[in-house]
Amino acid sequence: MKLIFERSRAGRGTQYIPECDVPVVIPNAPGREATLRLPELPETEVDRHYTELAKQTHGVNDGFYPLGSCTMKYNPQINEEAAALPGFTRIHPLQDADTVKGCHVVCDTLEKYLCEITGMDAVSLQPAAGAHGEFTGLLLIKAYHREKGDLKRTKIIVPDSAHGTNPASAAMAGFQVVSIASDDKGCVDLEALKAAVGEDTAGLMLTNPNTVGLFDPNILEITRIVHEAGGLCYYDGANLNAVMGIARPGDMGFDVVHVNLHKTFSTPHGGGGPGSGPSGCKAFLAKYLPGKESPESIGNVRSFGGNFLVAVKALAYILSIGREGVPAAAENAVLNANYMKEKLKDIYPLAYDRTCMHEFVICLEELKEKTGVSALDVAKAMLDHGIHPPTMYFPLIVHEALMVEPTETETKETLDEAIAIFRAIYDEAVQHPEAMHEKPVRTPIRRPDEVQAARTPVIRYDFEG
Ligand SMILES: *Cc1c(COP(=O)(O)O)cnc(C)c1O
Repeated sequence: MKLIFERSRAGRGTQYIPECDVPVVIPNAPGREATLRLPELPETEVDRHYTELAKQTHGVNDGFYPLGSCTMKYNPQINEEAAALPGFTRIHPLQDADTVKGCHVVCDTLEKYLCEITGMDAVSLQPAAGAHGEFTGLLLIKAYHREKGDLKRTKIIVPDSAHGTNPASAAMAGFQVVSIASDDKGCVDLEALKAAVGEDTAGLMLTNPNTVGLFDPNILEITRIVHEAGGLCYYDGANLNAVMGIARPGDMGFDVVHVNLHKTFSTPHGGGGPGSGPSGCKAFLAKYLPGKESPESIGNVRSFGGNFLVAVKALAYILSIGREGVPAAAENAVLNANYMKEKLKDIYPLAYDRTCMHEFVICLEELKEKTGVSALDVAKAMLDHGIHPPTMYFPLIVHEALMVEPTETETKETLDEAIAIFRAIYDEAVQHPEAMHEKPVRTPIRRPDEVQAARTPVIRYDFEG
C-alpha cells in the first residue's frame, strides 16, 4: 500500500479551517523554522488511506486474539460512550474542584470498588500503567521500612515465574532483586523462599496467577513466611480477571497490590495505551500513597489524577456488569482457558498439566526437536487463519512457549473454531514441516525482521529520497 505522502499532490488539500480572523498571537509553533510539510489530499483519499491501514491490522473486533498475559478481550462500546461525555472530556485538571464534583465522584467510587474487589483499604488512581503501579507500590514498601528506621531491608524476593516487569520495577525502586526458582508444579518453592527471607528482606512480589497461568496453592503460607521475616507482600494483580469477585489479595495476606484497568476492567490497549495501574494498599500504608494529602506521601507519581478517562471506562464496566458480573467474568475467563487447554493438550503439550486460571502455556520443545517447527512457526501460521497468535517465548522458564489467553468474552463457537485451527496447524507441522517456515503467506507483510523493526523503526518520511 502507498504511504499517505506518496498519495499527496500539491494543491489537492482541502482547507477545512477558515482563515484566522483575529490577531495571531503565536504565528508559528515555537522553534519551527519551515512550514509544516503535511500531505495534501482530498478528504475521500484521507479516509480511504486510514481505512486501508486499519484493514491491515488485527484487532479484537476482527477476530480471536488469545495474546496471553495481555487480556485482549472485547471491551463494551458503552464504556467509550461514557468516557466521551462532555462532562468528562471538556474539563481541565486545574479547574476548581467545586465545578467538577461529578468527576471526583467517579474517582472516589472507583477507588471504593477497587478496594472492595482487592480487599485493600485505600487506592491511588495515579499510576499510568501496570509497571508504574508496581513501582509506586514498591515505594510504599520502601517508605514503610524507612519510617521504622529499618534501613537494612534492601531486598525484594521475586519468583522466576513473575511477570518481567516485577524485577525491573524492584530494581527501579532501588531494591536488590533476589530471584527464587519455581518448584516442579510451576509454583513458589517454599523451601527456597524460607532460605531467601531474612533481616534484609523488604518484601516479596508475587504475580498471581503467575506467568504459567497458575494460582499458587500455598499463597497463605507464602505471605506468612514473608511477614514473619518482617517483609511486606506485594500482589501483582494485573490479571485480576482470573480471580476478581472470587478471591481477594487482601484476604490472602497481601499489603500492596496493583491492578491493570486496561486488561481486567475494560480499556482497549493495543498500540500502547492509555493504561492505568492503580495502586492499592492496607490502611497502615495509606498515608504513603501518591496523590493524597499526607505529609508522609511518597509524592506524586503522575500529574493530577492519572489517566482519568480510563477510570471512567473502568467504573462504567464495573457498574454495567454489576456485583454478579464481576465474578462471572472471572469464572468465564478461567472456564474458557481450561476448555481450550483440555481440547488441545493431547497434541500440544502443556508446560504444567494442572487446572489453569485465565491462561495456559504450551511447550513446543518436542515438536521442534522432531520436526524443526518452532513456536514462532506455529504462531506465524495462525495469521493465515485470521487469528492473532498467542504470546510467544514467554514466560522465559518454558522453552518454545506459547501462552494462550482466550479471555472471558469469547463464545464456545469461537473457541471451537480456534481449537480446530490450532489442530490443523499441528497436523500441517507434522506433515509439511518445511512449509511452516514460510508462514504466513496471506498477510500483507510476512516475516519482518522483528529486532530491526523494534530497534531501528523507520517512522519518518524521507522527502528528499
Ligand atoms: C501486563 C502485566 C504487567 C505490566 O503492565 P503494563 O501496563 O504493561 O505496564 C505486569 N504484570 C503482569 C502480570 C502483567 O500481565
